[in-house]
Amino acid sequence: MTPRLVTIDDALKKFRQIPRFRFGVYPTVIEEMPRLRDVLSATGVGVPRLYIKREDYSGPGFGGNKVRKLEYVFAAAQAEGADTVLTVGGVRSNHCRVTAAFAARLGMECHLIQNGVAPALTPASKFLDELYGAIIHPVATREDRAPSMQRVAEELRAKGRKPFAIPLGASTPLGALGFLHAANEIAQSGTRFDAIFHSTSSGGTQAGMDVGLQIYGQEHVKLIGVSADDPAASISSKVAEIVAGMADLLEVDRDPLRRDIEVDDQFIGPGYGIATPEGEEALKLLARTEGIVLDPVYTAKAIAAMLARIRAGEFTQDQRILFLHTGGQLALFSADTPHN
Ligand SMILES: *Cc1c(COP(=O)(O)O)cnc(C)c1O
Repeated sequence: MTPRLVTIDDALKKFRQIPRFRFGVYPTVIEEMPRLRDVLSATGVGVPRLYIKREDYSGPGFGGNKVRKLEYVFAAAQAEGADTVLTVGGVRSNHCRVTAAFAARLGMECHLIQNGVAPALTPASKFLDELYGAIIHPVATREDRAPSMQRVAEELRAKGRKPFAIPLGASTPLGALGFLHAANEIAQSGTRFDAIFHSTSSGGTQAGMDVGLQIYGQEHVKLIGVSADDPAASISSKVAEIVAGMADLLEVDRDPLRRDIEVDDQFIGPGYGIATPEGEEALKLLARTEGIVLDPVYTAKAIAAMLARIRAGEFTQDQRILFLHTGGQLALFSADTPHN
């Protein structure tokens, strides 16, 4: 085993040596949301200043939080000599779409193993997957995805291709490193935030933010991941596992990076992708007060959690809260033109 380095400077030096494609547009902007604050203040509760970081404007594949993660994962795929990538997701998967866009940009073949029934109208995201030239392999259930990906990878290998399989959401320790840059941008922004809310699911975004806030001197910031699907205990253990893997990649001791991971699972409602009244209210409120469009699957539910906790008086008016907009708005749209 390699000896562990201990200082943050050493970790940063190691971090900068890890190859990455810089496909996104950075820093993503941070905007204040004064009208949202005014509306919330009208109820009499002390409302902190509210900000939003526009990861939804991050770049290829219509942006979102998969861009930063895939910048590292594709660099690793190319370093291995891969000519083909495979990944998994649902038919509206933001991760699949950004993977397809990156593959197109690098001239790589892309195979997407997707579950979910095809509705009458093609989901906009699937339309784009095909437009970017990805080959889609439909499967019946979530559980079928990973074994199918292995099978397709073997078939490709037998045909002489060099496939690289990307796990769900690119939430590997390597992918999560992408969010160290987001944390650095927040540290460099000149605004001191007290809390950050974001949607969490496969854990990579939260792990990257958690490590990034510590590495870039922002350990005072409370990080709250709001679950889009799984129970808090299951997501926080996934996040802890990714954080441990990141410590290994950066060759730092795990202990200094181990802190409490907060996941709020009270806003999932009946399940992943199923609308909730709180999420619908948040979607409308953001659109009508700030002209900001959320997505129904992830960000609307995450902002609903933030709003509920502000309304419950958890924060004071002299604090500052940042919401990380992780993208996903294409889930609101369908394409009525079949595309092959
Ligand atoms: C994938 C996704 C998330 C969840 O991020 P993880 O890193 O998988 O936890 C949140 N919001 C949107 C819009 C996403 O596409």
